[in-house]
Amino acid sequence: MEIMPVKPAGLYVHIPFCLRKCSYCDFYSISDLSQTAGFLAALKREMQMNSGTPLVFDTFYIGGGTPSVLETEAIGQIIDAATGYFNIASDSEITLEVNPGTVTLESLRAYRRFGVNRLNIGVQSFDDNNLRFLGRIHSVSEARLSLERASRAGFDNIGLDLIFGLPGQDKTSWLSDLTAAVDIEPEHLSCYMLTCEPGTPLDRDVKTGRIHLAAEGTVLDLFNTTIDFLTTHGFLHYEISNFARMAGADHKARTSRHNLKYWSFAPYIGLGPSAHSFIEPERYWNHRSVAKYVRQIEAGKSALAEKERLTKEQMMIEAIYLGFRTNRGIDLPGTGSNRCGPMAPQ
Ligand code: SF4
Repeated sequence: MEIMPVKPAGLYVHIPFCLRKCSYCDFYSISDLSQTAGFLAALKREMQMNSGTPLVFDTFYIGGGTPSVLETEAIGQIIDAATGYFNIASDSEITLEVNPGTVTLESLRAYRRFGVNRLNIGVQSFDDNNLRFLGRIHSVSEARLSLERASRAGFDNIGLDLIFGLPGQDKTSWLSDLTAAVDIEPEHLSCYMLTCEPGTPLDRDVKTGRIHLAAEGTVLDLFNTTIDFLTTHGFLHYEISNFARMAGADHKARTSRHNLKYWSFAPYIGLGPSAHSFIEPERYWNHRSVAKYVRQIEAGKSALAEKERLTKEQMMIEAIYLGFRTNRGIDLPGTGSNRCGPMAPQ
């Protein structure tokens, strides 16, 4: 019998807390930090419940929410628990998402000591007016300070998130954001279009006419500007919204190994409220409520909210559209290494 090689898996932990909700965000998080202790105990228990998995992980991503709102030591405890319960390869990419308003040089140094080797910093814009519009808790100078401190703390793999397509934003103002980001020389840039998610404060403001979103043509223009600018400044455009800087003698791009798993059908396990998991052919996800998550786990039950089993046909369709998101594209049947897709090299 032929044994199929199992792709290395990704481990994701969702930290469901933020100091305040940003106006555009529909990721699950709450600002009641009194629930963090119960959540952390439940998270460790959920790790223990999943510890029998035969998967070998080579990426571990602590996201949210805002993981950096937790006590600094809690991040160390989460990494320790994960490495105790799961088979995490020693050369794993370990990413922590941080918000510039919630880190200090000491906390960043501690994260590095705990084993975090990649930081993703939610900068979003280098214009204070934009940050106020988005409801961010930090200023541009705090973002710059956190980036400088991250380097001083020893991080050499830093990603920034930026948002474009804000009302009134034009090519000149977006280019000034991109220039500011490139000048910092991060290893990775994620440039997301502002989208209006149902139920968010932004959505309400758009519906009442208080805010008018940028026209589709303008957003498309800004997207094309992003690609032109970043690819001429040494970044590889490897997924719709993601760019990795090609650096070093080998010009190797520092892509997000973890996020690539989502687009390449690799297995991943997500822990914490609202976290999704995928182990072919099943996808499943946890309850989107800290209270319910903690109750379920405390009662010794799974925090699973729903599960779906993908048919072969669904998996083929997903493999096509996920493959088309990246510059790898998809394999053409019967052609070996030939690949196609809107972003694949022609
Ligand atoms: S900090 Fe991030 S996760 Fe939290 S509300 Fe803002 S965008 Fe959402």
